[in-house]
Amino acid sequence: MADSAEPRVTETFQAEAAAWLEENFPASLRGKSALASGEADEGELEADLKLWRQRIGAKGWGTPTWPKAYGGGGLSVQEARVLAREMARAGAFNPLLFGMGVTMIGPTILDYGTEEQKQTHIPRIVRGEVRWCVGYSEPNAGSDLASLQMRCEDAGDHWRINGQKIWTSGADKSDWCGALVRTDPSAKKHEGISFMLVDMHQPGVETRPIKLISGASPFCETFFTDATAPKESLLGPLNGGWTVGKRLLQHERASQTGAAMGGGRARPLAEVAGAYDGASDDVELMGRINRNAMDAKAHGLTLERAAAEAKGNSGPGFTPSILKNSMTGVAQTRAELTLETMGAQGLGWDGDAFSHDELEAVKAWLFGKAMSIYGGSFEIQNNIISKRILGLPEKTQGE
Ligand SMILES: Cc1cc2nc3c(=O)[nH]c(=O)nc-3n(C[C@H](O)[C@H](O)[C@H](O)COP(=O)(O)OP(=O)(O)OC[C@H]3O[C@@H](n4cnc5c(N)ncnc54)[C@H](O)[C@@H]3O)c2cc1C
Repeated sequence: MADSAEPRVTETFQAEAAAWLEENFPASLRGKSALASGEADEGELEADLKLWRQRIGAKGWGTPTWPKAYGGGGLSVQEARVLAREMARAGAFNPLLFGMGVTMIGPTILDYGTEEQKQTHIPRIVRGEVRWCVGYSEPNAGSDLASLQMRCEDAGDHWRINGQKIWTSGADKSDWCGALVRTDPSAKKHEGISFMLVDMHQPGVETRPIKLISGASPFCETFFTDATAPKESLLGPLNGGWTVGKRLLQHERASQTGAAMGGGRARPLAEVAGAYDGASDDVELMGRINRNAMDAKAHGLTLERAAAEAKGNSGPGFTPSILKNSMTGVAQTRAELTLETMGAQGLGWDGDAFSHDELEAVKAWLFGKAMSIYGGSFEIQNNIISKRILGLPEKTQGE
């Protein structure tokens, strides 16, 4: 019965979504999805972008499948897919999709939060009113995350936090931090960790942006010195933060599979090659470009299949580890091929000798290196795939 009713439900919803977008999406933003990820300057479009954030936030369609009770769209997975398609058709984009509140913290609060935590935090994330960062990595705890040392002590009527995080994306601009902390130093390392929701606007928190070779500072060293958090800031069980933290990483990886991009946003490389002398006549290069295009297509189709299989909406599981690595491979190879196609024009950093697209291609190539590190490195995803999906043993016999 559900199957025969579904096409009608989506048809009705499709018309509703199209009409709402027509009325609410500012035409000036059409095709400007790079504004959402911060890849492009807002400039004179700042006011329209703010208006679009407010409108989609009020409707709950920036977080389409989140429960209506907390301001979300309350849509089914299928309706959310229809909405994404209608947005693409209208040249629209989801301006909330790149925030860590929407991609990681919010879904984890929905999974593990108390009713009070959901009521406090989720509506503000839905409306795009607060920025969140994720405090996991420390100077001596990256891939081996369970070695983290940041202390969190029970100080009677509140928690007291001391220690350092590193590579905290957007920490200097964030209102809140979802942090993994050590609450029981005497327990085995995975068992003494808790997940804390920490207010960044307090004297005990200091952020120092880390400058990259590109001049940008997307992440920080973050210092906590007698920082405090109210007792109700604990997300999930005391000393049960490892499980909560892993769940957040699954949500993070699910947002790094390319699904957020809507697929096919980039200009085909074969078309780019046509603009550079010799590139499209280079049979070997064109062969690799075509292989990359086929890999991108295969990745996109696998994403669609995984989304269709996840109709039950039971959470991200381990599949995102495969998709994250596959997305990383496609994107990094594409970035390499783009520079190769451009030849000497793909070596520019600034100046009039290079077009906007050429300068962006160099930045994308450099940033692409980060894809196989953040959210857990390429090798760590392969470890998860081999252990959790393929069931391979930790070590071979005799090791
Ligand atoms: C752009 C960017 C944004 C980031 N944002 C955040 C953030 O917001 N919050 C946050 O907490 N962190 C963030 N990180 C940090 C990121 O999570 C870590 O860099 C990552 O987990 C790797 O840790 P590490 O840098 O300490 O490298 P290490 O763990 O020292 O790894 C070094 C190398 O050894 C390999 N390696 C390590 N252990 C194994 C193993 N068991 N098997 C096989 N190979 C292994 C790794 O794959 C890697 O190649 C960000 C990183 C980047 C690049």
